[in-house]
Amino acid sequence: MYDFLIVGAGFAGSTLAERLATQLNKKVLLVDRRLHIGGNAYDCFDDSGILIHKYGPHIFHTNSRQVFDYLSQFTKWRQYQHRVMASVDGMLVPIPINLDTINQLYGLNLSSLEVEAFFQTVAEKREAIRTSEDVVVSKVGRELYEKFFRGYTRKHWGLDPSELDASVTARVPTRTNRDCRYFTDTYQAMPLHGFTRLFENMLSHENIHVLLNTDYREIKKFIPYREMIYTGPIDEFFDFRYGKLPYRSLNFQFETHDTAVIQPAPVINNPNDFAYTRVTEFKYLTGQHHPKTTLVYEYSQAEGDPYYPIPRPENAEIYQKYKTLLETMPLVHFCGRLATYKYYNMDQVVAQALTLFSKLEARTPAKSSETKSGSKLVSVPAAGNGKGSARKPRSISTAVLKRLRTGQSG
Ligand SMILES: Cc1cc2nc3c(=O)[nH]c(=O)nc-3n(C[C@H](O)[C@H](O)[C@H](O)COP(=O)(O)OP(=O)(O)OC[C@H]3O[C@@H](n4cnc5c(N)ncnc54)[C@H](O)[C@@H]3O)c2cc1C
Repeated sequence: MYDFLIVGAGFAGSTLAERLATQLNKKVLLVDRRLHIGGNAYDCFDDSGILIHKYGPHIFHTNSRQVFDYLSQFTKWRQYQHRVMASVDGMLVPIPINLDTINQLYGLNLSSLEVEAFFQTVAEKREAIRTSEDVVVSKVGRELYEKFFRGYTRKHWGLDPSELDASVTARVPTRTNRDCRYFTDTYQAMPLHGFTRLFENMLSHENIHVLLNTDYREIKKFIPYREMIYTGPIDEFFDFRYGKLPYRSLNFQFETHDTAVIQPAPVINNPNDFAYTRVTEFKYLTGQHHPKTTLVYEYSQAEGDPYYPIPRPENAEIYQKYKTLLETMPLVHFCGRLATYKYYNMDQVVAQALTLFSKLEARTPAKSSETKSGSKLVSVPAAGNGKGSARKPRSISTAVLKRLRTGQSG
């Protein structure tokens, strides 16, 4: 009997599995239909030996000390400040838009104060900020909106910014100084040995069994469990009873080149040219030294794996209907980006999982106080050859699964 069946081995599912197993001594079965743990944050070495992110570039950044401290139990970090350039009017300029962007683009030599005045002269007044177009045009005017945002958003979301919720572009700031960092969070770092190693360390506990390459619907009848934590798409859980929630997907094209470095920055955005939105060179992110380099080109598409929930009022309505159904199911808990249909970063998902854990902890007395020490839970690999070492998470054996499926005890 498992205390918890957890569906999805991404940040949401893995955080909950780790907390429940180590802090409450719960027996957990963690199931994922993919062939690996880590969800969308999974990384691996490609055929040339370069560490890549299979589902697109993932950069860790957070303002939450709690989340950073929590994850620091499972990895050492490599300090990393992310930078992005946009290819506009035949030039490569920093994005988010800052003082250098404006000076380079228009051949000017403005100061911070002057660029602030410049933004004020080009900004368009808006009565209310409802859409993504409103956000940008009201800050930097129509011309910069057209150069940097409109084409990119249309490619990425398949919608015009005027059709998208304000929250989408509100994430991208505009600066009047020369700060060319993409993020300004307090904690910005990459796991020293990669995300997958971090997940392996999280899940390496005798109370956690991991079952990969398995849709939970194939096994839920055969596996006895008390409660479920679900981190997959919410509409799929309810068999699309109120219709499909739309997601934006991506097609990733990887290219390896026989040269050490190709791009002048980790990511180059292409708002106006080409079918792809951006190109990432992984070695900047991972700090790996290698004579070759691998890039990934991202092509947005409607069909495929669900990556980005589309924030529009009509979708929020459908989501609310599904959420109401949940209230009738006290033994099923939803967590994560797909299960709550929210555009969350990794740190937000970890924070959400820790919050859910606190709720579960508050109503569940611990079976044993021995594991609830608050001391270091899992050994962290020493920095070394760049690949690190980790104890592998325990997998449920095929024999056990077969017994469960056929109803035999043992
Ligand atoms: C291209 C891209 C780039 C991103 N970049 C960043 C970034 O730079 N920084 C950042 O902080 N965040 C980034 N994110 C967001 C980040 O990926 C998510 O916040 C995080 O991975 C969400 O974790 P999760 O556990 O909620 O979901 P996921 O990682 O999606 O995990 C859910 C898991 O559930 C499994 N599953 C679903 N249904 C079933 C089922 N029926 N049976 C079994 N298993 C099932 C799936 O296979 C999946 O592995 C990015 C996302 C994308 C798509």
